[in-house]
Amino acid sequence: MLNIEHIGIAVKDLMASNTLFSKLLDSFPYKEEYVESEGVKTLFFKTGQTKIELLESTRSDSPVASFIEKRGEGIHHIAFEVADIWAEMARLKSEGFVLLSDEPKKGADNKLICFVHPKSANGVLIELCQEIQTPE
Ligand code: ZN
Repeated sequence: MLNIEHIGIAVKDLMASNTLFSKLLDSFPYKEEYVESEGVKTLFFKTGQTKIELLESTRSDSPVASFIEKRGEGIHHIAFEVADIWAEMARLKSEGFVLLSDEPKKGADNKLICFVHPKSANGVLIELCQEIQTPE
């Protein structure tokens, strides 16, 4: 695992949280993205090397919707950048961690991602992410 790439925060109202986090961080989001597979709208802020990803659910059966229902708004996941997501997934599996998918998925912000079940990580949802290299 390399650096913490971003921290995901589940919010009920993306526009209200945009205003709040813009004030908090004294900067504006650099990207807004809809991720259909996860049922979320996202906003990304940059704070030095680490990003903040705000997540608002777009449907009542999405993972973020059920997270907010159970635990309220707040930190949803921590994402670590990895150099080789397949190798890291294999390593974690061999260490007994439960992965939420067998293959990396296309996530927001041009990343291949995979989640580690919070039950195997002290209640913290962990995301692995690797930048998708686009051929020149
Ligand atoms: Zn994320």
